[in-house]
Amino acid sequence: MKAIRIDKPGDIGLVEVEKPKIANSREILIRVVCGSICGSDLGIFKGTNSVATYPIVIGHEFGGVVEEIGSEVTGIRPGDLVAVDPVRSCGHCYACRHGRQNVCAGVKCVGVHMPGGFSEFVTVPAERANKVDPERISPELVCLIEPYSIGVQVNTRGRIAKGDLVLVMGCGPAGLCIIQDARARGAVVLASDIIDARLEAALKMGAAAAVNVKKEDIRKAAADFSRGEGMPVVVDAACTVDSFPLALDLASPGGRAVIMGLGAAVSQVPAVAVTRKELDVIGSRLNNHRFEEVIAGMERGIYAPEFLRSHVFPLAEAVKAFDLALNHPEEVRKVVLKFDA
Ligand SMILES: [Zn+2]
Ligand SMILES: [Zn+2]
Repeated sequence: MKAIRIDKPGDIGLVEVEKPKIANSREILIRVVCGSICGSDLGIFKGTNSVATYPIVIGHEFGGVVEEIGSEVTGIRPGDLVAVDPVRSCGHCYACRHGRQNVCAGVKCVGVHMPGGFSEFVTVPAERANKVDPERISPELVCLIEPYSIGVQVNTRGRIAKGDLVLVMGCGPAGLCIIQDARARGAVVLASDIIDARLEAALKMGAAAAVNVKKEDIRKAAADFSRGEGMPVVVDAACTVDSFPLALDLASPGGRAVIMGLGAAVSQVPAVAVTRKELDVIGSRLNNHRFEEVIAGMERGIYAPEFLRSHVFPLAEAVKAFDLALNHPEEVRKVVLKFDA
């Protein structure tokens, strides 16, 4: 079968690999229908994802149709449409014991630390497959449940609720999912980016205002938006060396800053930046069992996966799709690969 593999930074290809077999009684075999390219996949390609291992069949945003089930699997049958939660955890470390499996001491993400879903077939533990009703969510959109789960995780970690003023820095796909979910929670969102097309998308996804930080002073924009108080919640979805300290700077006294970058480059932050305002600096990683919530939200129509998906390519053109996502961030929201085309 065909799969998309990155052998080392800069080296991606559509390769022939062996079709996987169910390895234990609780696994299922899925025929992948669609997958979407994530910024973290681009990071693995560029060599900037500090947690990736090579060579790796990538893909953690995917879904498909169940082909085969292990003997102990209940609740899922061949023919079911499923979205796959890519988080794998040990179940017994401190984080797992406290309901924080997404930061398990041995956490693994499919397509980052272990073979991913950008392949024609994949085996996964049945407990990580979430059933989707194809009458309510198009099979060609199931891969976009994972990116929304990131948005829900960030906003849950940030305790974003009705009436909160929220600055979302960075309006790539993750930022857009965060914005749309924050809006659905009743928050009022200020979006910032350096690309006008992304800001337009942010406004379509529900941001109340948008700032191009190359053209406007974000400090002034945040002050105006918050009547001079600073932003009660800042989400750093820009994930650069400078955006982390800036997020702390723009937060109001008593505010929250949610950090989600995976870079290893060092930002300079004085202790007083946190202490003076008694900020909650909150990390957010992957998702912690958020798929059901996202699926329910999609079914209720509070998200716009059709708009999030800006491009569709057949699997055969995966390298071209990657090139587009890598080199034209102004055109791309989510690039979706169709595996059955
Ligand atoms: Zn992703
Ligand atoms: Zn664990």
